[in-house]
Amino acid sequence: MTNSPWPDEISRLTAVVVPAAVVGMLTGYLAVSLLVGITGFAGWHIYQQHRLYTWLSTSRSANPPEGTGLWGAIYDQVFHMQRRNRRRKKRLGAILHEFRQSTAAMPDGTVVLAPDNRIVWFNAAAQRLLHLQSPDDMGQHVLNLIRSPALKAYFDTGSFQEAVEMTSPFDDATRLSMQVIPYGRDQRLLIARDITRLHRLEQVRRDFVANASHELRTPLTVISGYLESMRDDDGAAAREWRKPVQEMHNQAGRMRQILEDLLTLSRLDAQPDPGAEERVDVAALVRGICRDGRMTATNRITVDCDSDERIGLRGVHSELRSAFGNLVQNAVKYSTAGGEVHVRWYRDGDTACLDVVDSGIGIPQKHIPRLTERFYRVDDGRSRDRGGTGLGLSIVRHALQRHDASLEIHSRPGEGSTFRCRFPAERIIAMAHASATGS
Ligand code: ADP
Repeated sequence: MTNSPWPDEISRLTAVVVPAAVVGMLTGYLAVSLLVGITGFAGWHIYQQHRLYTWLSTSRSANPPEGTGLWGAIYDQVFHMQRRNRRRKKRLGAILHEFRQSTAAMPDGTVVLAPDNRIVWFNAAAQRLLHLQSPDDMGQHVLNLIRSPALKAYFDTGSFQEAVEMTSPFDDATRLSMQVIPYGRDQRLLIARDITRLHRLEQVRRDFVANASHELRTPLTVISGYLESMRDDDGAAAREWRKPVQEMHNQAGRMRQILEDLLTLSRLDAQPDPGAEERVDVAALVRGICRDGRMTATNRITVDCDSDERIGLRGVHSELRSAFGNLVQNAVKYSTAGGEVHVRWYRDGDTACLDVVDSGIGIPQKHIPRLTERFYRVDDGRSRDRGGTGLGLSIVRHALQRHDASLEIHSRPGEGSTFRCRFPAERIIAMAHASATGS
């Protein structure tokens, strides 16, 4: 701790004022003598201020001027403050340098955005991927520089939990994944990732599944044809082979169903958005699906249908038929003898729902989150026995996603299941039917 400079300063003032007063009294010019003394004292202070000013404005890094009393203390304080600030600046500079080096080395493009989406900073990968230029593009609105309808729609939604995929506006062959990460006070990071390779691999996988399924269809049709004729043949040799031939015929049928489901899934996968949308009369569609359900139902299983004919959907008829058809077929498939299946199409607040309720075997809770995965089955044997492919609910999920709808599943083992497809208000259309319900 430094000693207080004030006693020194007061003694200095006293050393000026007292002699000046004595000389003034002796000469009879007290006021003049005091004025001269105080002016000298003030002049000395002005000189010290001048030295401080010169030091601060010219050679801040040099040692401070020598000083005594209050001025010595002021020089000391300023000098220490400067040293502290210099050290802090150096430390912050080093941190900033490291941060910039590490983000510059990142393979993902990183753009720091202000709350109004103007660009504050970006790294080298962002320069490369998003064609940003430093310093010209600093302060520009990001959507003025990266012109993509998908990115604009993403920013408009204001929901950044997931990334958005888009074709690069600068190069059609590059596929980008863009994600906004909010941080701090209304600031945002825009991360741009090059997913061209991943996208290509996805494409290859999709094409492979679609092509393999397509190629297998023809030989399988030929085999099924021969098996059918052998099954229907009444000769002695054929009678001996009847059972294995029947089994081969059943398995060929299953394979055909798997191929059909794989092709449906590939078609749904191939285009991210539904194709040409139509006005779908859901009540009529559901009536047809229930009729098909009744035709496949055995063991006294009943299927009833209750639809609000006034509401329909904007969507793709074939995809909705696939989704609803799979749910009704499952309900019938997993019902026990004498079971009931209820299909209901109705308005629920702003949304519209299709419920498929069965009184069948039900599903243990732990399986429910995984049911829509490809080839996921609760009970392999039971699904196969009932002609299941393990792909039905995958198709349902894909088709519903493309219609902005969700799938809700409620089920208890032994008590049956409810599968609910919920469509948002934007998808609902009014149908010109007079009656409210029908079956
Ligand atoms: P699968 O062709 O095997 O029926 P899905 O994808 O349609 O395949 O269904 C996945 C699994 O979910 C089925 O194997 C079955 O275990 C279960 N599941 C689907 N619907 C029902 C239902 N209504 N009741 C009980 N289990 C069901």
